[in-house]
Amino acid sequence: MGSMPSMELSNGAVDFIDEVFLFGLLAGKRPAADRVREIIAKSLAKEALSVEETAQLLLADTPELIEEIFEAARVLKQRVYGNRIVLFAPLYIGNKCVNDCSYCAFKRSNATAIRRTLTEGEIREQVESLESRGHKRLILVFGEHQAYDAEFIAKSVQTVYDTRVDHGEIRRININAAPLDHEGYRIVKETYHHETYARLHPRDTRKSNYLYRLDGLSRAFEASCDDVGLGVLFGLADWRFEVLGLVTHALHLQQRYNVGPHTISFPRLRPAAGVEIDNSLLVRDDDFKRIIAILRLAVPYTGLILTARENAQVRRECMSFGVSQIDAGSRIDLGGYTEAGDAQVMEREQFSLADVRSLDEVMAELMNDGYLPSFCTSCYRVGRTGEHFMEFSIPGFIKEFCTPNGLMTLEEYLVDYASEATRMIGERLIAAELAKLPDGEIKRSVAKRLIEIRSGQNRDQCF
Ligand code: SAM
Ligand code: SF4
Repeated sequence: MGSMPSMELSNGAVDFIDEVFLFGLLAGKRPAADRVREIIAKSLAKEALSVEETAQLLLADTPELIEEIFEAARVLKQRVYGNRIVLFAPLYIGNKCVNDCSYCAFKRSNATAIRRTLTEGEIREQVESLESRGHKRLILVFGEHQAYDAEFIAKSVQTVYDTRVDHGEIRRININAAPLDHEGYRIVKETYHHETYARLHPRDTRKSNYLYRLDGLSRAFEASCDDVGLGVLFGLADWRFEVLGLVTHALHLQQRYNVGPHTISFPRLRPAAGVEIDNSLLVRDDDFKRIIAILRLAVPYTGLILTARENAQVRRECMSFGVSQIDAGSRIDLGGYTEAGDAQVMEREQFSLADVRSLDEVMAELMNDGYLPSFCTSCYRVGRTGEHFMEFSIPGFIKEFCTPNGLMTLEEYLVDYASEATRMIGERLIAAELAKLPDGEIKRSVAKRLIEIRSGQNRDQCF
């Protein structure tokens, strides 16, 4: 059994969430339309917004201004990311937990939760099942427990990478685990509001230390992890304050380490076994769309992740405001990819999912709506992360590299895993996207590689 990480902080760690300042910004007046347009213009020029500017967008709450913000977010998304949506799936490895977070079914006081940690063989089974549906990217999820120390997490990652079925392989893994000491991992932070954080995380638990959690990503950067994701659980405190918390955090990392977060996720609180939810702070769908659009404008180069906590219709509506990654075909009960069929069993899950459609169904819908679903992992594999990624991403890089890579990984999916109906939609989309690429070396090369993939050769090629 492993040990818990030390509570050591990053160099010069500070609590940079100044609530008086942030709430002060939100207490301001609705900005004039011209001011809102000025901020939008800055964002469309692909400059990150300050916290003050983000607050102004949050205060712009007339239907007309909200619509202008939505429209700008759509335009910016199209300019930076094109119509590409990256797909991934979560894989829950273990739900033992020493914490007692009020909102989560894995909390230690939930006696009804069925506790389980997948064995190496069980991890392999889950991964084989995911691969045989076409997944290439996973996020591994863990409770906080001495059994899930850095070595255990690293070993689980290795097991996943080592598992291959036919043409299937997992090419990129992210981690969603408790914050560690200087062994940085991707984490999701719950709320930036101090009093709420203290109330939801009992004082005798490791997670009650706000600064240790806030500082997690700084330690990750100091430990040379340059690809980290930020997030907040919406529904615990004022959503506008949480947006400012996210932007403050992103700017803090950018200033201190010269790299911002790679992604931001914005889960909304979901029903969970043994959890009583205070409905008063739940985020309504129309406000949820504003959150996504404003984040898109505030951090133009940060990927935005929308999870299957949201139902299919909300996901469909929100996608155009700036989302760049979604999960699909997800199961979040331990062993759920092979064992429970489609039944959702509350005692086995951390919370309940709202979108449990198959990957194939989600792929077909995305393509029918004009998106290019992508399984590309090439940036990580050729070292385009962190500072490098920022350099490359600035002059339209994403479209130039990501669209070709997206097309090739989509072709692999169509050839190896898609249903006949999805394959037909996909082939039409690929032909249309290929025709749109400017004539030149890249276009010729993509056309040639697509033919190779169709004839069963040369998979996993990337630019
Ligand atoms: N145990 C680690 C931790 O707390 O940082 C790893 C992540 S936890 C297994 C996954 C995330 O799910 C949490 O960070 C939390 O934000 C989110 N979550 C917990 N309960 C939830 C609920 N009822 N609805 C939606 N998301 C929830
Ligand atoms: Fe444990 Fe994470 Fe759930 Fe909190 S959110 S109880 S730390 S699994």
